[in-house]
Amino acid sequence: MKTITMKFGGTSVGSPEAIANVVNIVKVCREEGNRVIVVVSAMSGVTDQLLNSAKMAASGNKWGYLSTSEKLRDRHEDTLNLLVPPGSVREKTFSQIKSLLEEYVEICHAVSILGEETPRISDSIVAYGERLSSRIVAAALKAQSVEAAAFDAGDFIVTDDRFQSASPLWDETQARIDGKLVPSLVEGVTPVITGFIGATRTGTITTLGRGGSDYSGAIFAAGTNSDELVIWTDVDGVMTTDPRVDKRARVLPYVSYQEVGELAFYGAKVLHPKTVQPVLDKAIPIRVRNTFNPTYPGTLIGETGEPSETVIKAVTSIKKVSLLTVSGKGMIGVPGIAGRTFHATASAGASILMISQSSSEQSFCFLVTDGTADAVKESIEIQLASEIATRDIDRVDIRSDVVIITAVGAGMSGTPGVAGRVFSTMGNNRINVVAIAQGSSECSISFVVAEADLERAVIALHDLALESVPA
Ligand code: ADP
Ligand code: ASP
Ligand code: MG
Repeated sequence: MKTITMKFGGTSVGSPEAIANVVNIVKVCREEGNRVIVVVSAMSGVTDQLLNSAKMAASGNKWGYLSTSEKLRDRHEDTLNLLVPPGSVREKTFSQIKSLLEEYVEICHAVSILGEETPRISDSIVAYGERLSSRIVAAALKAQSVEAAAFDAGDFIVTDDRFQSASPLWDETQARIDGKLVPSLVEGVTPVITGFIGATRTGTITTLGRGGSDYSGAIFAAGTNSDELVIWTDVDGVMTTDPRVDKRARVLPYVSYQEVGELAFYGAKVLHPKTVQPVLDKAIPIRVRNTFNPTYPGTLIGETGEPSETVIKAVTSIKKVSLLTVSGKGMIGVPGIAGRTFHATASAGASILMISQSSSEQSFCFLVTDGTADAVKESIEIQLASEIATRDIDRVDIRSDVVIITAVGAGMSGTPGVAGRVFSTMGNNRINVVAIAQGSSECSISFVVAEADLERAVIALHDLALESVPA
């Protein structure tokens, strides 16, 4: 008997029709003799609505969050009515939805009185999205005679208290999964668990970061020693590029953990960048499949790299990034400037997406997300104040009209001339390359171009990737 963990994203649970597909997928998998664990996102759009309502509450906009609550109630109740016939399952789920939304309104009232929204409160508010959808999916399964039960992931995933981007405490999480989740699996129940959320040791709700339900799926797959993790989404698999940027994008039948890790880190929204981490050691295969095209096999993600002839497998981009440049003639040979700069960046709470240094050592640059750039600049200027005063460092510049483009493929390191091809393609298209990543990983090349060149750069590089993937 195999154990399969399935994660369904926001669009996959976003309508009654979509949830009906989810029910079929789970049913078929159980009928094939497997144990199934289901992890769900909030219905599409709900997470954004909830985050917005927390802001409305903090600014005293009572009408705003009450109206969100009404909209959420209507959408969830209508969905339930279409999926579950009148009777005890419907009634019970109905009252669960009602009391969850009442709790949500209570918290919003408290926020509006305090006039302040903290990351901790925001996590409690945003968690209602998954808490609502999980109840509905469990009820829809029960209505089709599948033994299912809804669970809040806070019962299992114990995290630190870095609200909005919490990390699991693995040993405690494993103990909870063994003690509380596995027994119900063994009894034949299909648990329907909220993605995205966890809880601290003391039970306060945390979240794993936007798009984090994929990560939740991987945590449960690893914790239950699943034979496979299936990420059910709204496209046919991991593609050569974002199909919204270039319609010619094709599904990749196979990618390695390392390749998909690079793709996700450098902007491919299809998987959360941390998804690979929990399943890597156990070599649990991941499949990315389309809820709306369930017979299509999708993309398999596994251990081995498969260098392909043309090497570039996929192209991604990240918007909303800023390029910070630290420059000055006095930097030559002065040890520690880079180290102190990165230390200052970390203490401003930012993480670095890419680093590049010119060989002359008169400047180096790196990229952070737009939201953190000003704080990072300020922190560096404080850290390097004495070098700035003596003019050893001229300035710290921010440029925010840029994007990062990344080409991914396992064969890159061993193939001379790949970088040459990438950059001559940019040159042929008259796209100016602002910076190139130094010491990038073996299977990706990243570089920076002006935001206005994003689409042209992706499409030009994508031409190279399409050469290797059969139509
Ligand atoms: P879910 O709600 O199922 O988690 P997401 O919206 O988070 O789905 O991720 C799926 C979306 O990722 C797709 O609809 C697609 O537009 C986008 N995407 C970006 N890059 C890629 C890529 N390389 N391959 C497939 N999808 C991609
Ligand atoms: N609902 C959360 C989000 O929209 C988590 C997820 O869907 O993965 O970010
Ligand atoms: Mg997602």
